[in-house]
Amino acid sequence: MKIKRVTNLASTIFLSYATLAFAVPPWDHNAQSTWWAIEDTSQEVPLRYPFAECGVGKHQSPVDLAAANINNTKPLSTLAAQYEIDTPTFFNSGHGVQVNTSIGYTGALKIGEESFPLIQFHFHEPSEHVVGGKNFPAELHFVHINEDGRIIVLAVAIDVGDENPLFQTILDNTPHQAEQKNSNASIQFNPASLVPALSQGNLNYYTFAGSLTTPPCSEGVQWYLLSDVITISTDQLEQLKGFYSSNARVPQDLNGRSILSTN
Ligand SMILES: [Zn+2]
Repeated sequence: MKIKRVTNLASTIFLSYATLAFAVPPWDHNAQSTWWAIEDTSQEVPLRYPFAECGVGKHQSPVDLAAANINNTKPLSTLAAQYEIDTPTFFNSGHGVQVNTSIGYTGALKIGEESFPLIQFHFHEPSEHVVGGKNFPAELHFVHINEDGRIIVLAVAIDVGDENPLFQTILDNTPHQAEQKNSNASIQFNPASLVPALSQGNLNYYTFAGSLTTPPCSEGVQWYLLSDVITISTDQLEQLKGFYSSNARVPQDLNGRSILSTN
């Protein structure tokens, strides 16, 4: 009985996160310093401040990597993006360009012996993680949730350089109107095309404890930020800005967190 309930909870989180179907008060990136204070007056305290964790959390994301103690002496799990071909849904979430994988998609991030199914991926412009206060032009987040409800985000910094054909497919098929979906594109692709150095199947990364970078800023998210970057063209970056610009949260206090690295 208990296990059933946990499974139900996990699938609720799974669906909510994939579709953003749950009702939350409106928020936007311009007012991020006051996300914690947004009220839902239909709720009793303490539920009245649904995004309180954005303000009181001690393990918030993103972070500035240059501000952290980086430990590269511990042996870490092998990381492999075992994504597969999918016919995804292109989704304008109201806060970013997002791609939702189909129901039952089995492509997953493998961390050591554990697998975490890919639920969706989306883009921020500029990057959320910074190095010494410096942003990359953009950042890609692959969001994975396992049946226990554990959330793993694989983050990839995006630089300007060669055009990326798969990124163009995403730009061309995402609706320009907020909260609209395009489920009828019938386009098949493998999200692995957006992961650098895939052929190695053994990615170099930084890993640390953090949170969702958008409300409700829930903690308990484990981050894997790849050492290698991917590129999009200047024109593609401009197209991304045509959807959302400055949809990045500023770096948060590390509060003593350490960052582990493979290199
Ligand atoms: Zn994100």
